[in-house]
Amino acid sequence: MTQWEAVVGLEIHVELKTESKLFCSCPTAFGAPPNSQCCPVCMGYPGALPVLNQKAVLLAVRAGLALGCQIQTSSGQDRKQYAYPDLPKAYQISQYDRPLCLGGRVAYTLDGVSRELGITRIHMEEDAGKLIHEGALTKIDYNRCGVPLIEIVTEPGLHSGAEARAFLRKLHTLLRYADVSDCRMNEGSFRVDVNLSVRPEGAHTLGERTEIKNINSFAFVQKAIESETERQIALMQAGKSVSRETRRFDPATGKTNAMRTKEDAADYRFFPDPDLPPVAVSQDVIEGIRAQLPELPDRKRERWMRTHALPEADACVLCADRALADYYDRAASGAKEPRRVANLVLSELLRLCRSEEFSCPIDPYHVQRIADMLSDGIVNSATAKRLVGMLWQRDTDPCVLVRENGWEQINDKDTLYALLHEAVAVSPRSLEAMRLGKRGAEGALVGYVMKKTDGRANAELLAELIGKLV
Ligand code: ADP
Ligand code: MG
Ligand code: ZN
Repeated sequence: MTQWEAVVGLEIHVELKTESKLFCSCPTAFGAPPNSQCCPVCMGYPGALPVLNQKAVLLAVRAGLALGCQIQTSSGQDRKQYAYPDLPKAYQISQYDRPLCLGGRVAYTLDGVSRELGITRIHMEEDAGKLIHEGALTKIDYNRCGVPLIEIVTEPGLHSGAEARAFLRKLHTLLRYADVSDCRMNEGSFRVDVNLSVRPEGAHTLGERTEIKNINSFAFVQKAIESETERQIALMQAGKSVSRETRRFDPATGKTNAMRTKEDAADYRFFPDPDLPPVAVSQDVIEGIRAQLPELPDRKRERWMRTHALPEADACVLCADRALADYYDRAASGAKEPRRVANLVLSELLRLCRSEEFSCPIDPYHVQRIADMLSDGIVNSATAKRLVGMLWQRDTDPCVLVRENGWEQINDKDTLYALLHEAVAVSPRSLEAMRLGKRGAEGALVGYVMKKTDGRANAELLAELIGKLV
């Protein structure tokens, strides 16, 4: 029987982080009262003229550079006609055959294997309004109309839901590093369309595809790809064919449903917008933006592995989120042992920070001081943990806290030895059990000494002393 493989290409719409819309000065803030951020330009009143927002162009260039694209010094501004209630002009201003960015690539990892996906193009366009369906009633909010977007179009080079998810995570990370968008999927500022076809494994041509529109979570993208792949394979195996159509993913059923048959380019009757000149970006401007790009995650990861001696897995987690990466970089820079900083961030701060985007009320320098106290043997790891918890509640200099409260680690052998003898007197069975080789038998002794020292005993030294007892 024929083995089938899925082929997936993605189109990702990303809202750019501008204060105002793409062709007018209306604000773009999310969550404003419906239809409170509109004007004759974004509502398409006759005679209103669009003026391109330069800030949006610069952000789009930055996105293109972060994804390794070639930025075009001249690109088009075209009208894409379609009549739908969310689009009051009955056309969208987009870029058709001359997009701003061409030919990028994104490296990502799937199950520990490095891969790369080509970016075909990135073009700028304006967003449409939002339809809100309430029972039989449909309401329209035009606040989103004219908000600047980039559309990132990938090569058809992905083959599973898990792979698409891995790619999208990396893309999301890169765009957050480039600081072009807040990329909030739940607010619609990062939305994914999936194009999917199936073909006999190893075939060189592509099959007929469907397009699944506007998916707003990574998990749903994965699920949509899995169920659409199954649906198409079942059709092929039954000797039927896939028809070119637009589908919608229904999270409730985990399945895709047909929405409409797909328009092709001819239906959109693209033509250059006569109200707007081509977009011009000079090579100097492009190079200026390139020079200001932050260090991107792959570079960061390698630097940390090389100069901070971080294990790859830790470096991967730390670089996946720009806010987290920046925080770690600030805390680790100048630390005696950056690995200790990484451990505190990964084990303590990530646990305390429950929000999806990393944020931390502790001055990164204070985390560095805790790590340095660990390096110097001034506090033990239990105290370090306690300090992080306290600073999270009320940030202050941890060194002062340790000094004022007398939380220094007890490194004195005689003191620990004396306490250990007390412990043995209290629970002599522990020592017997240890001598019989029972695992974990030393727990009672360690517990006693830690309790007596308010958790301040040097744990390594204590373990060494216990070892000598046996
Ligand atoms: P359209 O003009 O309909 O949007 P594009 O050529 O711009 O089509 O492609 C849109 C997306 O669909 C791209 O991400 C591309 O990789 C993907 N794609 C195109 N053909 C196929 C196919 N046969 N199977 C899977 N994906 C495809
Ligand atoms: Mg397209
Ligand atoms: Zn407006």
